[in-house]
Amino acid sequence: MFNAVICRYNEIAIKGGNRNMFESRMIENIYMLLKELPSIKVSRERGRIWIKHEKGGDFSCEELELIKENLQRAFGLSSFSPVIMCRSELSEIEKAVEKSSPEYFRKVLDANGKASFRVRARRSFKSFPFESKELEIKLAEAASRSFDVKKLAVNLHKADITIGCEVREKFSFIFYEEFQGPGGLPTGSSSPVLILLSGGIDSPVASYMMMKRGCRVNFITFHSDPYTPPETVEKVKKLVELINTYQRPGKLFICNLAPIQKMIRDNCDEKYRTVLYRRMMFRIAAKVARYNRLEALVTGESVGQVASQTIINLGVIDNASPMLVLRPLAGIDKIDTIKISEKMGAFEISKIQVPDSCTVFAPSSPVTSARLRRVIDEEEKLDDFETVLNEIRKNIEVFSRN
Ligand code: ATP
Ligand code: MG
Repeated sequence: MFNAVICRYNEIAIKGGNRNMFESRMIENIYMLLKELPSIKVSRERGRIWIKHEKGGDFSCEELELIKENLQRAFGLSSFSPVIMCRSELSEIEKAVEKSSPEYFRKVLDANGKASFRVRARRSFKSFPFESKELEIKLAEAASRSFDVKKLAVNLHKADITIGCEVREKFSFIFYEEFQGPGGLPTGSSSPVLILLSGGIDSPVASYMMMKRGCRVNFITFHSDPYTPPETVEKVKKLVELINTYQRPGKLFICNLAPIQKMIRDNCDEKYRTVLYRRMMFRIAAKVARYNRLEALVTGESVGQVASQTIINLGVIDNASPMLVLRPLAGIDKIDTIKISEKMGAFEISKIQVPDSCTVFAPSSPVTSARLRRVIDEEEKLDDFETVLNEIRKNIEVFSRN
């Protein structure tokens, strides 16, 4: 019985002059997420976006399920509801309530033996002849015409069934359910970034958080073939496929770090290997980002989580990047990171153990407070490492489904 889905958004609605751009991104993203439904049309009008069939008509249950599942990945949405959309005339609105409410009443009564209901109306169309309160009474009466509402209790504070109604100038709608969206900003409304993506738990979550702030994410991963197995990269590809279901797909740059790792192993103090690897990763990533017009690097680093992530080490690693580095998990506990990982569907992939590039030739006790001067001394032992980095960059493979 629902002929439209209404999408609500908070944060973008208050963006003043940028609102147009935010709404356009939101609409593009909804089309992308609902590409399995080619016959839909997404429209907007002052603070609301709605989805309909191009030729009108009701959505089927399967279509609504698909919409529900996919809109949960539409960053920028605060909530959405399947609705009955009609003209802003009392008789039409009443008819919509009469037709749709019995099914809801019956369902809850059958399940619980009792049910309470209420009507919540609002109007942004101020010349509509009835005020919200009057309209609520009229719609409660309409509901009673097609169902014996004596079986129901009215509860204005906490009801089993809330009949929602919004009256706007060009149309009105009735709804019964409100599903949560993921919030944030529509992906593509901020500059694109490059995520350093390992197969771990943290960096996919960092990707999620950046997409939620409007950044389309691209990815770079480092492996150490032949010291890491092919599974290392296969796992990262799976994560990329998953993350890309939330956005217009980003590219994955696949980079073999082994040549510089061997050089570090052969020339530098063992304790410094991890920090040195990370500085090399940052140097390569910054160039890849610049070349592809990506405006920042992003990592899943979290303060104090492991030896390489003390404040002092993070500072020394950061120093190797000429580019802005964002660390959305810097202040987040692992337990909360895992919750997001589960919510986004990455945990099942991330938890599978495969060797990581960082652990190749890893020291048993890495330095936890590396001093920059000392690290630079270690790097000076590497004869012309820039040439090796250039060679590594030339061999980067790109994985993309565009
Ligand atoms: P993750 O769970 O994301 O692997 P972690 O807690 O295991 O993080 P580290 O292995 O120290 O921590 O890595 C910290 C960050 O460095 C990662 O979140 C990621 O952004 C980046 N990183 C580490 N290893 C790689 C790699 N092989 N390829 C790309 N980025 C990496
Ligand atoms: Mg890791």
